[in-house]
Amino acid sequence: MGAGKGLKNLTYITLSSGVGGGVIVDCTLLIGKDGNAAEIGHMVIDLEGRLTCNCGGRGHWEAYCSGSGIPKLAKYLVKSRLDHFRGTLVEDLAERGELTPKPLFELARRGDKGALKIIEEVSRLNAIGFANVDTFYDPELITIGGSIALNNPELVLKPIAANMGGTR
Ligand SMILES: [Zn+2]
Repeated sequence: MGAGKGLKNLTYITLSSGVGGGVIVDCTLLIGKDGNAAEIGHMVIDLEGRLTCNCGGRGHWEAYCSGSGIPKLAKYLVKSRLDHFRGTLVEDLAERGELTPKPLFELARRGDKGALKIIEEVSRLNAIGFANVDTFYDPELITIGGSIALNNPELVLKPIAANMGGTR
């Protein structure tokens, strides 16, 4: 069905309130003992474990690039690189925990440098996740869904492809 019709190896990634996945390898849907075989959002993508995930783990993809993670990443970046953001709208929103994906991407579309800086980090981290998924499951196609990806293809999907360019 859909974009993966006829393929034997297909991976789905959703960038939404969480980061999730669905994986078919050799025509078999991967499930695992507890149904978590494709819980890709909980892979470690940050060696330094700067942020804690909703699951309690540190450095997980979902903690940085999901709808719930992006505000936490924005707050962290603003605090740790204050000079870049001092006196900006992004600083104000991030410190209040209100730099959710919607205002962040709206600001970026208007060319706000602070917002673009945060999205650059999201893109870098997304590319690590996508590259790992590509390596783990060897899919013929990766399909992508979720509001963050679908609402912001220019700012989310294009940079992932660009950042992954060197891996193939
Ligand atoms: Zn997690």
